[in-house]
Amino acid sequence: MREKPNISLEVSEGMIIECITDLYINPKKSIIKWSKITNQTAQGKFAYPSQHLASLITKTKGGGSTARGDDLADGSEVKSCTRADQLNECKKCGANILTWQNKCPYCGSTEIKTDISSHWIFPITSDSELDLLLNKIPRIILILFDKEDIKKDNIRIRAWTINPKEKYVRDFFTDYYENNYKKKISEGKDPAPCNLHPLKYDFYLMNPKLIFHTEIMENEAKILFWNLDRPQEQPMVSSLLVKEKLIEIYGEEVRNLKKEDIVKKYPFISDKDFSKLEMKKKILKSYKEKYQRR
Ligand SMILES: [Zn+2]
Repeated sequence: MREKPNISLEVSEGMIIECITDLYINPKKSIIKWSKITNQTAQGKFAYPSQHLASLITKTKGGGSTARGDDLADGSEVKSCTRADQLNECKKCGANILTWQNKCPYCGSTEIKTDISSHWIFPITSDSELDLLLNKIPRIILILFDKEDIKKDNIRIRAWTINPKEKYVRDFFTDYYENNYKKKISEGKDPAPCNLHPLKYDFYLMNPKLIFHTEIMENEAKILFWNLDRPQEQPMVSSLLVKEKLIEIYGEEVRNLKKEDIVKKYPFISDKDFSKLEMKKKILKSYKEKYQRR
């Protein structure tokens, strides 16, 4: 019998910090330096070390030469998305602003808008792809690069796992495939891939578990949380629910309160009430979105 290949990695916190510094912080520093000289964009695919990071965080080697050729050797699917390196745009004249510029070089406005619409993308285009995602993958790892405060330079890197056996995970992807993808195809349209938006309703309903949290401040990474055995629960945030739903959960006595006051009183939905939440009706988009797999 052939021996099973060793897919586990010995990982220390120091290794993770070194990886983030080598593959994320330093390349970014270099491109900003050159952008200031050339006035060319400092945009880049800085989240590409996500796969390396996923291996380190989970202590699992990459798939290397396995059939799908990506993600982790234990079959885990890794998705990443960055809201930290998005394009900036002048609110007044619409010009593109380079990341290090704090006012518009064309009109001088300091009103700068950052596009933070980036999300995790799941292309599901056949029964077998849906089956793979729901029945053959042990876990999905979601990585997010973002900023707690858009005006500051601090960048957060967080990772969650979601379990494809979880009912809502199955419902969400099946709903996309049956009611969006297949419907569009039958109408001769080009369906957009399945989008999962970080920190939104669908995300929290999937029962995500935080396994990793790092902050980068002044080009230095600091690990705030990293635990695979005892990950952090991420309860549903009440503000993502409509007021009627909050009344249904907390009773008539909250009807006279403003929604923000209900949210202040009950910021998270407890385990006990979690089962009262259901899938929101999806709005079908018919345009084709450009996307890239990272
Ligand atoms: Zn402008």
